[in-house]
Amino acid sequence: MQVLVAEDDPVSRRLLEAHLGRWGYRAVAASDGDQAWDLLQQPDAPRLAILDWMMPGLSGPELCRRVRSLGREPYTYLLLLTARAHKEDLIEGMEAGADDYVTKPFDAQELNVRLRAGRRILELQAELVTAREALREQATRDGLTRLWNRSSILEILARELAKSERDGSAVGLIMADLDHFKQINDTHGHLAGDAVLREAARRLQTSLRSYDSVGRYGGEEFLVVVPGSTHSSALQLAERLRLAVNREPVRLTDRSIEVTISLGVAVSAPGALIFPETLIRAADEALYRAKTVGRNRIEWLAPGRLAVESPQLVETLV
Ligand SMILES: [Mg+2]
Repeated sequence: MQVLVAEDDPVSRRLLEAHLGRWGYRAVAASDGDQAWDLLQQPDAPRLAILDWMMPGLSGPELCRRVRSLGREPYTYLLLLTARAHKEDLIEGMEAGADDYVTKPFDAQELNVRLRAGRRILELQAELVTAREALREQATRDGLTRLWNRSSILEILARELAKSERDGSAVGLIMADLDHFKQINDTHGHLAGDAVLREAARRLQTSLRSYDSVGRYGGEEFLVVVPGSTHSSALQLAERLRLAVNREPVRLTDRSIEVTISLGVAVSAPGALIFPETLIRAADEALYRAKTVGRNRIEWLAPGRLAVESPQLVETLV
């Protein structure tokens, strides 16, 4: 593990480096506060740092303040090294964001113990971050398909529409629904149905550009949000999705299941104020047409047909 040693006194610095090496750390040395600050801002900066209080350039406490103001994750554990034994000074250092301190001249065993405590804190913090990310994943992803869940994809749509109104772009929305899904469930059973959903979701996901988003809207229904879209690019994407789902049957261990999908497309007018519900309703109507006309096809709302919300209406809602 890397440890930053920021210490202007060369004798003390070399001593620290030697100890750290013996304890299995890799020392990264800085001889003044500014150099330490440069190192601490690197993306792969050491996460444990021993900072001398008094140095040319930035002082130890000032470094602590700056590191904390970055608010970065993973956490950086900061140990102040100080010749000052006055309590008020130590309080200042801790308030600046230091986690602990060691007084100079330092006792090697004590420093070793303090570093171990710091390492333990970093490990605990890493576990917390992992647990939090797992929770976030659970809260935002659909359990079966791992696509965005309904509330997340609606949030993405609302965000993209707000952004498009600001920057004068347009948002495409594709609503897609697997054809005859109930029949698949009835004929092959729910486990096979789940496998078909998962595979269809994977095919949709892998056909998108990185800035498009797809979520599971309902049972076998998906929403695709396409920022920076035009009417024709949204239709092209919808066709790509249709082909991706239908290109080959979904192969399960004991059978193959032919799958098709129907899609409805609606695109907002560039820079227009559109509510998510309006665009969803339009895509839904187009999807309904695709279903009634014969399935495994795309229908769309003609450009310019989408009702633009009037500012008066917005005012009454705010
Ligand atoms: Mg010094």
